[in-house]
Amino acid sequence: MTDWSPSSWKTKPIAQDVEYPDQQHLSRRLHTWLTSLCRVLSKIQTLPPLVTPSEIERLRYKIGLVQRNEAFLLHAGDCAESFDACTHENISSKIGLILSFSLILIWGARLPVVRIGRIAGQYAKPRSSPYEKLGDRQLLSFRGDNVNGLDPNDRTPDPERLLKAYFHSTTTLNYLRGLLNSGFASLHHPRDWSLTHVRSASLRSEFEGIVNGLSDALDFSRTIGMDSLPPFERGGGLGALGEVDFFTSHEGLMLEYEQSLTRNFPSAPKKDWYNTSAHFIWIGDRTRQLNGAHVEYFRGIRNPIGIKVGPTMKDQELVDLLNIVNPDKEFGRIILITRYGAGKVEDHLPTHIAAVQQSGHPVAWICDPMHGNTKTSSTGLKTRHFGTIISELVSCIRIHSTCNSKLGGVSLEFTGELNDEGFSVTECVGGSMELSEEELGLRYQSFCDPRLNFEQALDLAFLVSNYFKK
Ligand code: PEP
Ligand code: MN
Repeated sequence: MTDWSPSSWKTKPIAQDVEYPDQQHLSRRLHTWLTSLCRVLSKIQTLPPLVTPSEIERLRYKIGLVQRNEAFLLHAGDCAESFDACTHENISSKIGLILSFSLILIWGARLPVVRIGRIAGQYAKPRSSPYEKLGDRQLLSFRGDNVNGLDPNDRTPDPERLLKAYFHSTTTLNYLRGLLNSGFASLHHPRDWSLTHVRSASLRSEFEGIVNGLSDALDFSRTIGMDSLPPFERGGGLGALGEVDFFTSHEGLMLEYEQSLTRNFPSAPKKDWYNTSAHFIWIGDRTRQLNGAHVEYFRGIRNPIGIKVGPTMKDQELVDLLNIVNPDKEFGRIILITRYGAGKVEDHLPTHIAAVQQSGHPVAWICDPMHGNTKTSSTGLKTRHFGTIISELVSCIRIHSTCNSKLGGVSLEFTGELNDEGFSVTECVGGSMELSEEELGLRYQSFCDPRLNFEQALDLAFLVSNYFKK
């Protein structure tokens, strides 16, 4: 890798940069070892990695399967995690929903599913404006729990929050690994993923049907000895037959943090730099400038990476970007996450597909039908309409097949969170529960983007899975 180091991004312009208060009065070089930011980063540098090179290599292998149309990718979770939401209930309900969703896909599409959660580090948020208005006060925008607080009186960026982010990620991951190792994620026990609160009887019985079918299939496989095959021969979607793999991800926005967890290991499968904060990180639609700091950082790490592709991306720009981040056209490395909006997908996706095909770059195409379809409701809440989300997704599937390509997966914001009475959140309009705009205020809990709730997420899973069955 030419002229790259974990800190070479510092020589480039940084979009969405955070200015810590004392930084405004000192030159960058002078304050380097003086500020608490540097103390915090030096501390993080000494702390252990959150994920390991061999896990990252395994994900690369699986992304390669997605690129060859041999697996489907599910990328999902909250828009942003918060330190307060790092609880046993929230983590297990998120994993339960991701597992239920993936089970529906496996059953319908008959493809292994690669699961990547927006979890264990998804704290930073890009913002359209660095400031927001509150009455007649002008405040710094909330940039995510690893930068400042949601409370209007806590908006000054505090470097200590990066250390808190590291420890909250570690705690989340610790519990996640515990859940996966103790059978919660086993396909032999999907009833543990708690559907009891799903009020729609037809959704519940549709899911039960799949669970029963799957139990039979697993019993049959065990009877004929299929469960003793080595993992790679089983197509990569399952660990031991009936066990599942799960990977973590977040937007790689705070480059100081990412750098402090960028490591090389003498014993790693490849002599290369691994970002050990998560298995997969992505570049947001606001930070993908060809000459910018984020692209510079991302080009040098070994992890699979995502690139958000919105309607302002030019065809040639996309190819230039791929040439920078994956010059050797390696498989298993790049996921393009398209997020145009239902009304714009037709204008951009076909030419983006054609440009990438012509360039010969191997990519996995994933549809994010959430971020191009955010609206403000008549009652002033940020929302998304289920119908519009489906419309972008269905257009994506159709356009890929007419362009001799294939949709490789979906990237969604959903939550299995329930309130104290066991009701799901009300942040997106529509779905089989027919949530109306007037009902959004009932249980609107997101402090960031609106998420599909449990029922709406399952509705979407059945829709996608039926689509792939055809
Ligand atoms: C997100 O995924 O939460 C996000 C902000 O996406 P984008 O960069 O595509 O706007
Ligand atoms: Mn979001």
